[in-house]
Formats: sequence, structure tokens, C-alpha cells
Amino acid sequence: MKNNAQRRLPLQASRPAYRTLKGWALSTLIEHHAVRECEHHGHAIDRADPEARNRAREAAWNHPFPGTTPEQSQAAIDEVLRSVGDTCPEC
Ligand SMILES: [Zn+2]
Repeated sequence: MKNNAQRRLPLQASRPAYRTLKGWALSTLIEHHAVRECEHHGHAIDRADPEARNRAREAAWNHPFPGTTPEQSQAAIDEVLRSVGDTCPEC
């Protein structure tokens, strides 16, 4: 028998639940390589890859953020893309 002196809460899911639509949209863009994170500062950087953008928008449409419509999820993707620059502001 293992002695579990330290009890840990079980992981509820393999992926974290995103609290905001914007956070979800950003992670969707990163997942589809439309946006990358600066390895030094963590800022989101636009990769300017139209195909990756399309894949992310398609994913948002097919698998919208819980509680939103495909239109709202796709709009959030576009909004994040508009707010992300193509360079890290601190690099
Ligand atoms: Zn940076």
C-alpha cells in the first residue's frame, strides 16, 4: 500500500478550462499556429499566416467556446488577431 501523506486533488480535465472568451480565442490561435508566444516575455505575436488563421477560425466555428455561438467565437478570434502585433513589444 502506498502511503499518501500528501493528498492531491485529481486533475479535472486534461486541458484547462478557459475563463474568458478572449483567453480561449488566444489559445485557439496558438494551437493552430496563427499566433505564437514570445519565448522571453510571453507576449502573443501574430505569425501572419493566412492558412493558420483560417484553421483557427474554422475551429472556433466548429467548436465554439461554451456558452457562445459560432459567430461570437469567430468574432473573438478576429478581435484577438486585431489586437496582436507582429513583433513582441519588449524584444
Ligand atoms: Zn519578447
